[in-house]
Amino acid sequence: MKLTPVNPRTEELLEPVDCTTREEVHEKVARARAVQGAWQATPFEQRAEHCRRAAEQIEADADQIAGRMHAETGKPVQQARGETVGAARALGSAVTDMQAALAPEERAFKDGLCRTHYLPHGVAAVIGPWNFPAYMPLEAIWPCLLAGNTVLFKPSEFSPYTGIAMADALAKHLPADVFHLVLGTGEEGGWLTAAEIDFIAFVGSRATGKAIMKQASDRLCRLLLELGGKDAMLVAHDADLEQAAQFAVRSSLQNAGQVCVAVERVYVERAAEAPFIAHVVELAADVALDAGRNGQMVIGPMSNAKQMRIVLDHIRDALEKGAKLELGGKRLDRAGYWVEPTVMSGLTPDMKLMREETFGPVVAIRTVDSLEDAIREANDTRYGLTATIWGGQRDALYAQALRLEAGLVAVNGRQGGAPGVPRAPAKESGFGFMGGVAGMRQFLQPRTVTIRT
Ligand code: NAD
Repeated sequence: MKLTPVNPRTEELLEPVDCTTREEVHEKVARARAVQGAWQATPFEQRAEHCRRAAEQIEADADQIAGRMHAETGKPVQQARGETVGAARALGSAVTDMQAALAPEERAFKDGLCRTHYLPHGVAAVIGPWNFPAYMPLEAIWPCLLAGNTVLFKPSEFSPYTGIAMADALAKHLPADVFHLVLGTGEEGGWLTAAEIDFIAFVGSRATGKAIMKQASDRLCRLLLELGGKDAMLVAHDADLEQAAQFAVRSSLQNAGQVCVAVERVYVERAAEAPFIAHVVELAADVALDAGRNGQMVIGPMSNAKQMRIVLDHIRDALEKGAKLELGGKRLDRAGYWVEPTVMSGLTPDMKLMREETFGPVVAIRTVDSLEDAIREANDTRYGLTATIWGGQRDALYAQALRLEAGLVAVNGRQGGAPGVPRAPAKESGFGFMGGVAGMRQFLQPRTVTIRT
């Protein structure tokens, strides 16, 4: 079988790519298994050094990798380059945190001592999405390798060329068979997760995450699932509305909305509705498609036709049910999957824009009578990635923030920030977590030895 990636800026077909066959998947798993013991036995500092050289290679190849990412996902080339370099540099904190995570721990008791060692799972599969096709996979590949797991990496069918370029850079600096590439769609991904592997790190949609979890249950294969979101932003009447609008626009529209932690729903208190929407529309109207002046926010097209159809369907559904289109809302009348930066208001809870992951350049605004209503509605979802709450009463808002059912919550600003905090998806946004030393332990299996005196 072949993949036929499409340039989403022009709809031109890119050179087809051969998929990995089922036999090849099994052969690669066997080869990764054969060298895993030796890789695990390699001292940590040496494993880290292999990874450092690979990261330097990725940085050296950043222009080439970004060029491919630009061609197959439509991401503006500077953003693609920034992502690639950031993905390579993410190795730095992974090394520090993994070194701490690998350190054995001792606990004494009256008859002796228990010593817990942290060991790799064995052979790991890393399966990635297309929206950050360098960053998301590498965020899992680095800890897998540092822990002493060998890795089979399957990039998305929409970003195989980015995957191939990264795999070339990695393979150049890792011992033979420690790292393998598997190319293909969900079918090939399914062969991989059904093979004799020990750990799956998956970043992608909730639906695929569930399918993988079912499949993994056959052998109780260890799992890390980082899935989708429907992140809510709550705006109280006394919020700094200009600042809140800036966040709403930047977070909803960045990467054309194709970000797992993008703001997908804004709940604004009625008293602030008109000025907040006015600010949002003004700022969103200044977001450029394709190219812009210096300092202007620029977004690319939707990365694939499938995602564009979902976004247009959500907009259409909201309009049919009575929402108001404040800005944009249409596909551009030219080749490529270009969707205008869009602002919609008057949304109601039954609309797809309020319930399903849109993953598109839409600021979706719902007006509510009170913050209490906003909290109730924000929690009325199966997702639980992140949430933010904005208002003048910071201390009171902190208590409300704690009621939001998400793994990362923030008051008057962006989520997260400090290094080392766990980024743990709640509810159906994932299973397991990354971030810090505790996150690194997800890539490891504890083994406790009791020494009796
Ligand atoms: P997807 O689930 O369609 O595909 C992800 C990967 O899984 C692809 O490589 C695909 O080929 C593979 N796959 C599909 N079916 C499979 C199966 N049955 N077995 C094994 N592998 C299979 O997701 P996508 O459309 O590529 O990515 C977008 C989604 O990813 C969004 O929901 C987004 O929110 C989520 N995402 C989450 C995070 C996070 O950190 N939580 C980060 C980025 C993206």
